[in-house]
Amino acid sequence: MKHKKVYINTIGCQMNVYDSGRMVKLLSPMNYVPVDSFYNADLIIVNTCTIREKAVQKAHSFIGRLSGLKKKRPGLIIAVAGCVAQQQGDLIMARFPYVDIVMGTRAVEHICAHIGALNADRSRKIVDIDLESIGFITGEAPEISGGISGVSRYVTIMRGCDNFCTYCVVPYVRGREESRTPEDIIKEITSYVKTGVCEVTLLGQNVNSYGKKEGLCSFPHLLERVAGISGLSRIRFVTSHPKDLSDDLINAFGRIDKLCNHIHLPVQSGSDRILSGMHRRYTRDDYMKKLDKLRNVRPDVAVTTDIIVGFPGETDDDFRQTLDLIDRAGFDTLFAFAYSDRPEAPASEYPEKVDDKTKSKRLGELFSCQKEITRKVYSRQTGKIFPVLVEGISKKEVHNLNNGKTVQITGRTPENRIVNFDVPGDSEHNVHNRHGGIPGDLVGKTLLVRITKACSNSLSGELLTGVSLGDGENEGEAHAA
Ligand code: SF4
Repeated sequence: MKHKKVYINTIGCQMNVYDSGRMVKLLSPMNYVPVDSFYNADLIIVNTCTIREKAVQKAHSFIGRLSGLKKKRPGLIIAVAGCVAQQQGDLIMARFPYVDIVMGTRAVEHICAHIGALNADRSRKIVDIDLESIGFITGEAPEISGGISGVSRYVTIMRGCDNFCTYCVVPYVRGREESRTPEDIIKEITSYVKTGVCEVTLLGQNVNSYGKKEGLCSFPHLLERVAGISGLSRIRFVTSHPKDLSDDLINAFGRIDKLCNHIHLPVQSGSDRILSGMHRRYTRDDYMKKLDKLRNVRPDVAVTTDIIVGFPGETDDDFRQTLDLIDRAGFDTLFAFAYSDRPEAPASEYPEKVDDKTKSKRLGELFSCQKEITRKVYSRQTGKIFPVLVEGISKKEVHNLNNGKTVQITGRTPENRIVNFDVPGDSEHNVHNRHGGIPGDLVGKTLLVRITKACSNSLSGELLTGVSLGDGENEGEAHAA
């Protein structure tokens, strides 16, 4: 049977990346193959995000561009999936009448049924946004799942959220918390490891509450079970709500070597008044105490965070407290956003909105403050030796092509810092081969690298010749100077 082409435009978080991979897998028995360009696709899926207004505009703009294509090729199927689809449902159809399918955040598993229904009757329009519609996905692994690189995969362990932070729409568009069974998760990860994956990132809106509702094992216990998978060398997770970062999870950093030396712990603000308005249910002091505890267990753990500037009512003094917190916390990096009203989120009704000029001024100040902190943190790594999991050829090398003598490759330390370093070239490989010209198929190998230079968002290093940690097992202790 002739192949059909599916193009997926994924906007937003890792959850969407994972869901897109899942759709590719589900569509494969229908003979769909993923393609990189939407111009000749038979099916276009826009997997959308509504966390910020900009992401919604991006989705609308892309869907708008498809109008001409649909006129030229009426047989083209256009589906809108994800959070905007969930939130706007029929409104999408009204605004973009050439869209065939609108499917919400829990309708991923229905993609084939919807395509089948459309093939039977091309005049149909399908809107599937029932948040209660189906149970969780099974443990069958997507062959082409979303992931960070060829050696690393995202694995959704739970979905939805029960926290109802006042600025956030996730509980409304992704539904209430629901966890997969450990057996499903282990089965999926094991299948990835068989294909050469050595690192997984466990995904959930708040992984700390994994399994609580269903009476499954705790998150730290799940981590131990995942760590028992032979051939898997690194485990990461996102996201962890500070209020639920338990002693048990902190202690897991001391027990589980495969647990990477990094945590993403979104603080959002350094002002107790704003944290309370956000309904975060911790204070800046609680947050800092948890960081201290974590650093007692893993002194060199890398911490990253999220910040929202310009939440309704945020004064200059509140903002100064945020700057003070980031200075004290010593984050590796941070993701910061200007607050924007989201439909359905309670804070959109709050008075005392901060004007755009102030928000962008504060954002600029925050970034420049963090830039200096990152510079200091990265400079401290110079001279240290790290186990680097090789992901592929570096961006610079892709542009310069292979000079034949050395190849610059890229990988990550357990702290999630990017390291670029040279390895000897290999005349039998060239930049067009499967690993971009990297000799000896180094992708997926963990190599010891000494850091020689700190750049603004990455590190440069030199390979310690003759030292390899193989496929990464037992690398946990190797990042001492
Ligand atoms: S914890 Fe808060 S910010 Fe995070 S997904 Fe849930 S409601 Fe949104």
